[in-house]
Amino acid sequence: MKVAILYICTGKYTVFWSDFYQSCESNFLANSSKEYFVFTDKKFRSQTGVHFIFQPKLGWPYDTLMRFDMFNRIKDQLVRFDYIFFLNANMRFLVKIEEDFLPFKEELLAVQHPGYFNKDRVNFTYESNSASLAYVAPTEGKFYFMGGFNGGKGQAYLKLIETLNENVKADLGNGIIAVWHDESHLNRYLIGKNIKVMTPAYGYHEAWDLPFEKKVVIIDKIKLGGHDFLRSDKLNFSRSAKLLFSKIFYWLRKSCNTLINRQ
Ligand code: UDP
Repeated sequence: MKVAILYICTGKYTVFWSDFYQSCESNFLANSSKEYFVFTDKKFRSQTGVHFIFQPKLGWPYDTLMRFDMFNRIKDQLVRFDYIFFLNANMRFLVKIEEDFLPFKEELLAVQHPGYFNKDRVNFTYESNSASLAYVAPTEGKFYFMGGFNGGKGQAYLKLIETLNENVKADLGNGIIAVWHDESHLNRYLIGKNIKVMTPAYGYHEAWDLPFEKKVVIIDKIKLGGHDFLRSDKLNFSRSAKLLFSKIFYWLRKSCNTLINRQ
């Protein structure tokens, strides 16, 4: 099978790429041919099978909300794939996931949100503004899916990308941003579709205790400064200071060497 992996890491989220890539290469669909499409503002060293696509940091929540616009821009490249998946930057594959994971009878695949798999419909945080294209009426919806891991057959996922790109943009045109951004639009779209529903074993927050095997984990962002810090442009002082000192040290050493060589 030919599988496209879509991945976004702008700003400080670039820190997650290397471990994500290693875990995906080792554990996800080992018998398929995978290609990665990485939307990023960092200049990474080139890697076989990885397409780095320049994507400036848009600021929160646009870094995540505008994902369908990013994916739509490369749709001509995505038509070659049997399956397409998107994963959040801080996801990690912990165990081998074989090809039987792929939706075969179904068109799309989505993972139940680890915070809502055991909650009643009334607690789901669907968009409740009826003016939004992400709106879900109180009588609709059976599952609340996470935005961080989903995918499907190539054609079906391309259709999802195209529709949600239009819906997000139409909402923006009307001054509306859905409550959980892309996740709200995804949940709206999936209602009534032919979905392979996966448990939070495939979206297991590493710091939580859930009644599932940990197969794909969500790395706890607290360890890296937390949501707000990671999403912002704020600098980590100690990291910046270290970078500055190492640059000064390097410059001093170079200057000393030049002086010594002259004598
Ligand atoms: N993201 C990014 N840069 C940012 C913020 C978000 O690349 O500055 C991308 C990244 O892929 C991330 C996804 O958007 O995994 C969703 O954002 P976040 O993880 O903060 O949202 P959560 O899923 O925790 O609500």
